[in-house]
Amino acid sequence: MGWEIEGQLPLPSVTLKIMVASLGKLLDTQQLAQAYILSGAQSTDMARQFIQKLFCEPQCGDCGQCQKLTSGNHPDVRWVLPDGKNIKIEQIRNLQHMALYPPIEAPHKVFVIQSAETLSQEAANSLLKILEAPPTFLIFMLLTQRLGDLLPTVVSRCRVVQTGIQNLSEDLERACWGNPAWMQTFTVDDEEPFELNEENLIEAFSQTQLIALYQATQKVFHYARTLPLSQLMKLAAALSKSGRSQLEYLFQGLAYLNHEADTASVSGLELTRQLSQSYGALRSNANAQLLLETCLIKLWKTHHHVQR
Ligand SMILES: [Zn+2]
Repeated sequence: MGWEIEGQLPLPSVTLKIMVASLGKLLDTQQLAQAYILSGAQSTDMARQFIQKLFCEPQCGDCGQCQKLTSGNHPDVRWVLPDGKNIKIEQIRNLQHMALYPPIEAPHKVFVIQSAETLSQEAANSLLKILEAPPTFLIFMLLTQRLGDLLPTVVSRCRVVQTGIQNLSEDLERACWGNPAWMQTFTVDDEEPFELNEENLIEAFSQTQLIALYQATQKVFHYARTLPLSQLMKLAAALSKSGRSQLEYLFQGLAYLNHEADTASVSGLELTRQLSQSYGALRSNANAQLLLETCLIKLWKTHHHVQR
């Protein structure tokens, strides 16, 4: 039958999922990674806590390890800061050299790279070489406020931890569609949670509670594949009057859910791509109702085609 795809199917941005972990998960020293990226406002604090916990489990503050860490004189920890505007290749070569020798006092050697987004191209490539096969005693921590500016090849070799979000539950992690920015856009723990039921689906998209929006988006995804088309168009018209952020959230969610539901078929991937594009179009102020109708019809058609 031969599927013909011209060029390469562009991967929708929503599928570049960021693994979001909480401080608790990071400090789970039973499941150490060899390279971490700590992203966000609390990355430096979190790196300090992580290293202390790693070197002194109870984080006592009194022992030799703790004291050397506090004074910044621990021989097994190296912090690298940008030299001027960039982190230069010479700095990474230094690390490469130091990586040859096992730790002196602690069970691990830790290299922390502050402002990792400032790694020069050559420095990043040089770093990649160590990340490919690091000695088992070595742990890298890359700190950044701008995760998107890091080379994807570097990111893919690290466990990414979003800081500034503590005790993130699995539900919240899912509700963000892999994009922690939604946690800042919407509220996560209101005293009176919005309860989604059969009648208030439209209302859910006029409020700001992340979990309610998450549930409502799942419901829309379900309806888009099951309702009769005429009813679906009524739903689209009503939903299109929602707030801008809520609509953006809905589109990103539909793309994400479709991606999860159907990654195997070419038509599924193509639909995910179109849904992602609609999210982009909405952000550049395209007509919300028209976009929503088009997307819901496509979801409806794909499902009804599959049924036959
Ligand atoms: Zn201690």
